[in-house]
Amino acid sequence: AALNKTLDIKGCIRVFCRVRPFLSTDKRRIRQPISVESDKIVLKSGGSRKEFAFDKVFHQEASQEQVFIEVEPVLRSALDGHNACILSYGQTGTGKTFTMEGTTDSPGIIPHALEELFQKTSSSSSTSYTFSISMLEVYLGSLKDLLAARPSSKTYSVSRCNLNIQTDSKGSVDIEGLTEVPVSNFVKANWWYNKGRRIRSTSWTNVNEISSRSHCLTRIIIYRQENASESKALVSKLWMVDLGGSERLFKTGATGQTMDEGRAINLSLSALGDVIAALRRKRGHVPYRNSKLTQILRDSLGGGSKVMMLVHVSPYEEDVGETTCSFTFAKRAR
Ligand code: ADP
Ligand code: MG
Repeated sequence: AALNKTLDIKGCIRVFCRVRPFLSTDKRRIRQPISVESDKIVLKSGGSRKEFAFDKVFHQEASQEQVFIEVEPVLRSALDGHNACILSYGQTGTGKTFTMEGTTDSPGIIPHALEELFQKTSSSSSTSYTFSISMLEVYLGSLKDLLAARPSSKTYSVSRCNLNIQTDSKGSVDIEGLTEVPVSNFVKANWWYNKGRRIRSTSWTNVNEISSRSHCLTRIIIYRQENASESKALVSKLWMVDLGGSERLFKTGATGQTMDEGRAINLSLSALGDVIAALRRKRGHVPYRNSKLTQILRDSLGGGSKVMMLVHVSPYEEDVGETTCSFTFAKRAR
């Protein structure tokens, strides 16, 4: 029974590491002495040697397809009626967005998953599936609906939070007022996804700064109806989350607003770490209420939901401090 329980936990929360390749644009930086094994990273720094274990490590040459192989079981589970959550974690610049969004040439998890969901379900004659997409950005504890018909103004009001997170007695989460667009095929789903991406990137004067400090969440709701049965449709959620950069901003001499932003991101990421660590322990109180992020994801992190965390790290020596922090975060989740 104990073994089963362990397997069960392992099956629910899986933690991966992806090491970013060297880019031609930053040739001169010193490479970090890390060695990658299939499920382990060995980090040598300042005479010390540390090992970090993962469910799997994606080395620098790993393709988007190799990453997607691990996403498949998560999609399966979501189609079977379980909630699921895919989280992209790491320091800014380490490839979180590359993994989730990708590029036209090498699409990331979200566009690929959208395509697969329709492909996997189109030939099923006994079950009808319908899907909807929603997108929101969480920034300084404030929520922004990225698919709203009338996008909110360009300046982000920190105090305004017009989306209300409701949790019912069973722990089911509902975000009141969040736009939910029904999508009947991949082309439509992808069109809305790209629209949300565009709105996210055009609503700020300084895109890179803000987008590295906000979380971008894409939600797919799956309605599954057995054709032969009169019973209600089974509903499950799949969250795909590009998290804010995990770097400790106070280190870089940030002040004022930047400092608050850094704190807010660090707080919500540590709240996420606390929730996942509590879920791993499988007992005791799970502190969902400590951040908007964990309130939103509550029913898709716990209760048998499949969780896939991808921890991204830099291949450079100068980032070794942040890399170690990311590994420490990952270790708590495993
Ligand atoms: P983050 O979202 O974590 O800030 P990005 O996804 O924007 O980081 O990645 C930073 C840069 O590195 C981008 O130019 C991106 O295209 C590139 N990049 C990241 N990961 C990879 C990868 N696995 N292969 C090729 N290029 C990558
Ligand atoms: Mg990014």
